[in-house]
Amino acid sequence: MVWHGPDHSEAQRDREARAVKNHALFREVNERVEEIHDGFSLIVPSGDWICECANDTCAERIAMSVNEYESVRRYGVRFFVAPSDEHLWPDVDQVIIDRNDRYWVIEETGHAGDLAKRSDPRSQQGPLALRR
Ligand SMILES: [Zn+2]
Repeated sequence: MVWHGPDHSEAQRDREARAVKNHALFREVNERVEEIHDGFSLIVPSGDWICECANDTCAERIAMSVNEYESVRRYGVRFFVAPSDEHLWPDVDQVIIDRNDRYWVIEETGHAGDLAKRSDPRSQQGPLALRR
């Protein structure tokens, strides 16, 4: 099925696809980071994570606790980025959910949100796994 939103040109959709691909890549890395943090959670209450912005050369570190990480990861369409505008792609559909000194939480919407949900590594373990 092909559907086009009112202001979604082909170029726009390509850019969103690229943005979400990068978000998803960093999410995969952070999922591994969490496994390591989990093992040390009694010793280190918070850890370093990598910025999940759409810029694939970004190497910004973000300090957050495993609980904070989980509160973002619960939503397949949410990612966290370092707290400045350089880490946002304003032409990709997204809204800022939360801002604090250490990180901003963004939520992908529209087409970008669909892609983010589809690439969520946790979706197989969630309610979708019940529908076989
Ligand atoms: Zn970044």
